[in-house]
Amino acid sequence: MQLSDLPQFSVDATKLVGGAWVLEGVFNHLRSVAENRSWLYAPRAALIGDLEALDRQTRRARFNTMDPNPPRIPTMGQTFPWLSGYWQAFHIDIILDPNHLWKPLVFRAEDALERPIPEWRVQRRAIGAIPRPDETVVPGAWDHEHCMICNSHIDPDDLGYLDDDEHWLCTKCHDSYAVPHDLGFLAP
Ligand SMILES: [Zn+2]
Repeated sequence: MQLSDLPQFSVDATKLVGGAWVLEGVFNHLRSVAENRSWLYAPRAALIGDLEALDRQTRRARFNTMDPNPPRIPTMGQTFPWLSGYWQAFHIDIILDPNHLWKPLVFRAEDALERPIPEWRVQRRAIGAIPRPDETVVPGAWDHEHCMICNSHIDPDDLGYLDDDEHWLCTKCHDSYAVPHDLGFLAP
């Protein structure tokens, strides 16, 4: 699956509405399209907003940037791949980047810093962090990571793939999406 397989939103009007910039336009199809939080994708410059007033007959909608400043990229007359707000635009940036480096790594449990908040276990990685006065070190408590795409656990002794920004991929998502630069994880 490539960017062109996502629903495409073509902007044909831009205006300030109630103090926020709104992009009006039309979709080429509505498969997986729903109102509310979503993205108009542009490489490393995606716009976030709320999709509103979606008309399933005409395929027209408004994309409300909720921003009083005009979009920082040209929008009028442009066509953007549309992405559900379930995802982050950087997921696409990273998976499509031919130079993105994923290092194979066997996950090992690490120490965690824990804060005493009732009913909650609030932890962060201890390595490289400066403990706050209310934090205690819990040895080995940082015991899994989550795959950036499918959210599955990467547990101690599991092989995963790590990038320089601390994103993890499980082996399945690495092989299925990162290696071929395929956006199949976005399929409904
Ligand atoms: Zn995964």
